[in-house]
Amino acid sequence: MKKIVTRFAPSPTGYIHIGNVRSAIYPYLAAKQSGGKFILRIEDTDQSRYVEGATELILETLRWLGLEWDEGPEKDGPAAPYFQSKRKSIYQDWAKRLILKGRAYADPTDPETIQKYRDLDNTKKVPYLYRNHRPKEADLSPSEIISLWKEGVPIRFKSDPKPRKWHDEVMGDLHAGPEVQDDIILIKKDGLPTYNFAHIVDDTLMGVNLVARGVEYLSSTPNYLALYEALDLNPPLFVSLPHILAPQGNKKLSKRDGAKSVTEYRDDGILPEAMLNYLACLGWNDGTEQELYTKSELIEKFSVSRIQNSGARFDETKLLWMNGQWIRRLVSEQGIDKFFERTLDYWLESSKSYEESYKKKVLSIIYDRLKTLSDLQEMTTYFFTDPKFDIEMLTKNKFLKKFSELELKSLLETSISALEAIDEKNWTEENLNKTLNSLLEKTEKKPAELFSLIRISVSFAPFSPALDLTLSVLGRNVTLSRLQSVQSALLLDNQ
Ligand code: GLU
Repeated sequence: MKKIVTRFAPSPTGYIHIGNVRSAIYPYLAAKQSGGKFILRIEDTDQSRYVEGATELILETLRWLGLEWDEGPEKDGPAAPYFQSKRKSIYQDWAKRLILKGRAYADPTDPETIQKYRDLDNTKKVPYLYRNHRPKEADLSPSEIISLWKEGVPIRFKSDPKPRKWHDEVMGDLHAGPEVQDDIILIKKDGLPTYNFAHIVDDTLMGVNLVARGVEYLSSTPNYLALYEALDLNPPLFVSLPHILAPQGNKKLSKRDGAKSVTEYRDDGILPEAMLNYLACLGWNDGTEQELYTKSELIEKFSVSRIQNSGARFDETKLLWMNGQWIRRLVSEQGIDKFFERTLDYWLESSKSYEESYKKKVLSIIYDRLKTLSDLQEMTTYFFTDPKFDIEMLTKNKFLKKFSELELKSLLETSISALEAIDEKNWTEENLNKTLNSLLEKTEKKPAELFSLIRISVSFAPFSPALDLTLSVLGRNVTLSRLQSVQSALLLDNQ
């Protein structure tokens, strides 16, 4: 298999939202599968869109997802530096190369004149193409052009429009006519390169042979092909990734449509394993029904040829489902102790004073209901604070509403004395189970009735794990005192 050298080339213009992180995941998988290289390059040449802290957030996001880069920021390699803003002279040298070949020119035309050309074409209802307004300076000799060029004067490509054909691994065989090819800007007024030029220079110098990026770059590809040709370079393999669609409508998922950042999902308690799995499978499948993939399985099974060529819809419910699956899988593979480490940031403030061993017990009985790690808070409140008495939860409960308060009170009394008979050291799940079952016989109530009464009385929560488990974790004192206070409150409330 040919070693794939590829890259993720984000611009530090904000956080990485889930709509664009697939252009990191797919190249990463392709590179790792072939034993090649995954490079991270920061495309920061558009100073006006630069956002402070965005680069750090990009690095953090990739590391969290487990997409470690082989070369890039904080990991220099032979093609360093990996920040485009630090490679200015490289692009200028390459632009000069094109000038010397007669394929680029310094363009002194001022912005007002350019606007006039635009307006003129607009009035004539012809497509605006700069090459139709190419200045006479484009015909100067290369050495004259080089001497004319100074910072503040952009350099443009001298295009040679013609029909172009190319292959895209996702979109298939494509072609475009000359009408989309133009004298694009290579070096801007500020001396920095445009994306159009810089990425070609960098991909070449970094040995990149597979370029995976959003489908929005497809329409510019004929211009890129013209540049590769003018530079006598072979283009890389193109992999155009369709957009991720917003949950509703037919539009691209964007920050404006509420696309959250990857790190926000982390803070909300999504596991990186689930995020990677979900995003990798959004628009790719291996042809089987498998839904859960570890990173190594993804590396093994991924193929660019199975990336879908139409947009996949973002479905948060599916992500949450997958996260729940991953929580259960990690617990069963690694055990509660190891999994507990991943939950540390998500516990309630009120749990701070509790022993780690108690929290682990709580986790072990509730983890299989978690969808995200932040569900922990809501689901474990009553393990750390006494619940608020709410008589309606008892009297309006579908299994309990047929009983009078007096009956409920007396059922609680019976339950309390049976449970009191278990002493502290015998307060185990097994003994609780036995006692609860004999209570059923004694009271002649259905499990849903008696157990709902006890469960609600100790938790006042809509759900709790199995009753014997819940009581064993809560402990004898807490259980009895909560049952006791509900029992007394029932009486008081009645008067
Ligand atoms: N800097 C471009 C972006 O953030 C990268 C496109 C590419 O991967 O070449 O969209």
